[in-house]
Amino acid sequence: MHHFEYHHGELRCEGVEIRDIARQVGTPFYLYSQATLTRHYTVFDGAFAALPHLTAFAVKACSNIAILSLLGRLGAGADIVSGGELFRVLRAGIPGERIVFSGVGKTEPEVAAALRAGIRMFSVESGPELTMINRVAGELGLRAPVALRVNPDVDPQTHPYISTGLKENKFGFPVKGVEEVFLKAAAMPHIRVIGVHQHIGSQITQIPPFVEAVERAAELIRSLRAAGLAIECLDIGGGIGIPYEDTQPPSPEQLAEAVVPILASLGVHIITEPGRVIAGNAGVFVTRVLRTKEHTDKNFLVVDGAMNDLMRPSLYNAYHKIIPVREPLDSQGVLRKDILADVVGPICESGDFLARNRTLPRPEEGELLAVMSAGAYGFSMSSTYNSRPRVPEVLVDGTTVHVIRTRETYEDLVAREVIPWQ
Ligand SMILES: *Cc1c(COP(=O)(O)O)cnc(C)c1O
Repeated sequence: MHHFEYHHGELRCEGVEIRDIARQVGTPFYLYSQATLTRHYTVFDGAFAALPHLTAFAVKACSNIAILSLLGRLGAGADIVSGGELFRVLRAGIPGERIVFSGVGKTEPEVAAALRAGIRMFSVESGPELTMINRVAGELGLRAPVALRVNPDVDPQTHPYISTGLKENKFGFPVKGVEEVFLKAAAMPHIRVIGVHQHIGSQITQIPPFVEAVERAAELIRSLRAAGLAIECLDIGGGIGIPYEDTQPPSPEQLAEAVVPILASLGVHIITEPGRVIAGNAGVFVTRVLRTKEHTDKNFLVVDGAMNDLMRPSLYNAYHKIIPVREPLDSQGVLRKDILADVVGPICESGDFLARNRTLPRPEEGELLAVMSAGAYGFSMSSTYNSRPRVPEVLVDGTTVHVIRTRETYEDLVAREVIPWQ
């Protein structure tokens, strides 16, 4: 469900024609629909209404502070993985008690900042990290609330780069023997063990891996309680997929239906960390066709957006639907001819593509294309590679257009660089 639809031959975001936004901010740019973000958050959060819970948006998926503020005002918390993300969510007005902090490489300054902000909990990924958090909390005269991240060794059947819950992945404690770590943690003076955390991967399109992981967590919580630990919360992570191509992933309601019965009897507070499912289909990447290169056995559509702007196709071979902003009908209402082409950017690498061997209505030079489902891991993964300034982000609310990040300038590119002999 999203709000990007043709109306009188023009692709709109809610009530605004995308070509009008392109005229205003230039191309390429990211475009988000506020109604879609709101709906996705509300549906996801509502699916878990039967349990006491917190929906902590995974900030790394889409980290613009306007979007964080929007979700925060709807009641969302935040799942952060760095000090920079902590800064963003605090700037966006999300209160400490709704922030959870994951990641294998937290630094002392990051832990100290998070403790000062009074975050809900740290998700701890290793023994040495636990020791460090205990020390930093001690220096501040505080007790750090922690959950231990348990690696349930469940195969989420997703791309290997975004699978995190297998025993060969770098995340969490192996479930075997983790009870001892819990007991050790509970004995540390500046640690308060409050929960269990797991996150098994991303773009998961089936229910069984979630069910299996949650069953293992429930079992673990029972035995921890039997050992005398007061486990009050279970963070089941994020990872539910979205329909990029033909796969129809389970809806948040279906996920909740499958796991809530397992969780209900535990009497714990549930935390979820959805990222992609909230932001993915709420955003598109808009790019302009620069020219068509037709070779004897291969065609290329050269566009002004590139792998530095949207990295997922190059990094994961990810599929994004690409549609013309002007509906693919000619003036007589006849469908335009298709072209089979690679959609490529101007970057000097053969890995720079937005789509390969794609059939789409043959666009004219200067025409706009919308790369769909680009709201998650789109802008947040972008860089300035090839000295391409980062693109603007635009948020549409009904008929109102908000530029929530302006286009970087060439001056921005070199602003922090220094020539020592000048
Ligand atoms: C990336 C991540 C998420 C979000 O994953 P999605 O697939 O975007 O839902 C949640 N929790 C943790 C710990 C993560 O690293």
